[in-house]
Amino acid sequence: MKIYLDGNFVDAADAKISVFDHGLLYGDGIFEGIRLYKGNVFRLDEHLERLEYSAKALMLKLPLSRKELAEATCETCRRNNLTDGYIRLVVTRGVGDLGLSPWLCATPSLFIIADKIALYPKEYYEKGLEIVTVATRRMSPAALPPAVKSLNYLNNILAKIEARQAGALEAIMLNDQGYVAECTGDNIFIVHKGRILTPSSQAGALRGITRDSIFDIAREVGVPIEEHDLTRYDVWNADEAFLTGTGAEVIPVVKLDGREVGAGRPGPIFEKILAAFRRRVLTEGTRI
Ligand code: PMP
Repeated sequence: MKIYLDGNFVDAADAKISVFDHGLLYGDGIFEGIRLYKGNVFRLDEHLERLEYSAKALMLKLPLSRKELAEATCETCRRNNLTDGYIRLVVTRGVGDLGLSPWLCATPSLFIIADKIALYPKEYYEKGLEIVTVATRRMSPAALPPAVKSLNYLNNILAKIEARQAGALEAIMLNDQGYVAECTGDNIFIVHKGRILTPSSQAGALRGITRDSIFDIAREVGVPIEEHDLTRYDVWNADEAFLTGTGAEVIPVVKLDGREVGAGRPGPIFEKILAAFRRRVLTEGTRI
């Protein structure tokens, strides 16, 4: 496997980052997870825009322009003969000293990995996930804007550990006001009386690229969709629920906190959305 690392393509075994890199020492950096479907990089421009926004928020200077980042991403796929898979694009603050100061990190590092991913076992895409609400709250926007896709995922990892301890593969995280924010690595949607609802980024949701595509798909298939504050009660009493993410794609949820969601199986609106999503991923992309 060839990894793009700061302008070069190197073997995976040689793709190394300094122990003084603040991405490692402090989680000071940003990333994108991007899908590749039959030679199409799904919504690459949107991913790179989000990366730029994350960089702006952290005052991190991206080492390449959007065009150059797109080219490096596509070239990494080509070098690995990959036509279907998952791309991880990471920008770290770079090498500094043992203090926090980002100003002492002269050059950010950029690496791109193009590989495969299977987030959930296949059976859950058919029968649906049973998830739980965990005690770990989503980081408050006052502490770290949840829209920043940073290398610091400890908040989500603590939630993921709680999910696992409760025997679930994914968990709902609430915001500090007790409203549903999102899951540890996915956005959440519910369907209630024919409308699709999802928490806003103000409520703590990452502005997911897959989430964005669901808004377009809902409009295409004629189902009303809106951002809405949601409580656990709303999810328990939803007719349907599903999660979205680049890794997860679109996956149904059939139980939350021991309560069956709707009929306890993937619902008709989910099926409609999924079918349209499957069509879109083949057409909405940048050819590598
Ligand atoms: N929320 C979190 C916390 C995530 O890490 C992700 C990405 N895995 C998502 C939502 C989904 O975002 P996207 O559709 O852009 O992958």
